[in-house]
Amino acid sequence: MSENALREQIVVTVREMERLGINQGTSGNVSARWLDGFLITPSGVPAAQLRASGIVWLPMDIKEPSPVLDQARPSSEWRFHRDILHSRPDANAIVHTHSAAATAIAIHGRDIPAHHYMVAAAGGNSIRCAPYATFGSQALSDHAVAALQGRSACLLAHHGVIALGPDLARALWLAHEVEVLAKQYLLACQLGTPPVLPDEEMQIVVEKFRSYGPKRTQ
Ligand code: 13P
Ligand code: ZN
Repeated sequence: MSENALREQIVVTVREMERLGINQGTSGNVSARWLDGFLITPSGVPAAQLRASGIVWLPMDIKEPSPVLDQARPSSEWRFHRDILHSRPDANAIVHTHSAAATAIAIHGRDIPAHHYMVAAAGGNSIRCAPYATFGSQALSDHAVAALQGRSACLLAHHGVIALGPDLARALWLAHEVEVLAKQYLLACQLGTPPVLPDEEMQIVVEKFRSYGPKRTQ
């Protein structure tokens, strides 16, 4: 795939996030691994105004983006995109949202437990909630990397959701799935504390997901 095609895919992903109702305004951001760095959405640009040329490339060893004339400022969350892509060779794409139901659970600082077997799609028997830290901070990045250990999605307290994938389509799919799981969980909570699936069963489902779906050609 060419760099331009990947930039276009990022734009499509951002528009799709809005269409799916998991993002609005300038909340959320998207990145994809490219060469020895990553492409990331610019900061504070709404989906309708986003152009492929406005996507920013950062090297993986970036410490502080230097202001480049004529280049947009990268997402304020470039630190967690950098650190997750650096520490997770299995991930090539990251989708971050403030989707409402998942964020409602994250406001309580609570994990999403195994109320439904699809929780295993994020890699384990829960979707962990990382402790709160200021948006864009190194502390937030450190908390996110820890909460994502062995998982491909996490919540961020008082903030939102991060979902990873081998490609943008998969990361977007998971971000949407987390929101659906959060809605189910909130509904189920209305009837009392929902029962959860046992750890052994969730382990079986995690294993099953490794060979679930259409065969991958690569
Ligand atoms: P950016 O527009 O800088 O990506 O910020 C949005 C956001 O969700 C911060 O957490
Ligand atoms: Zn955010």
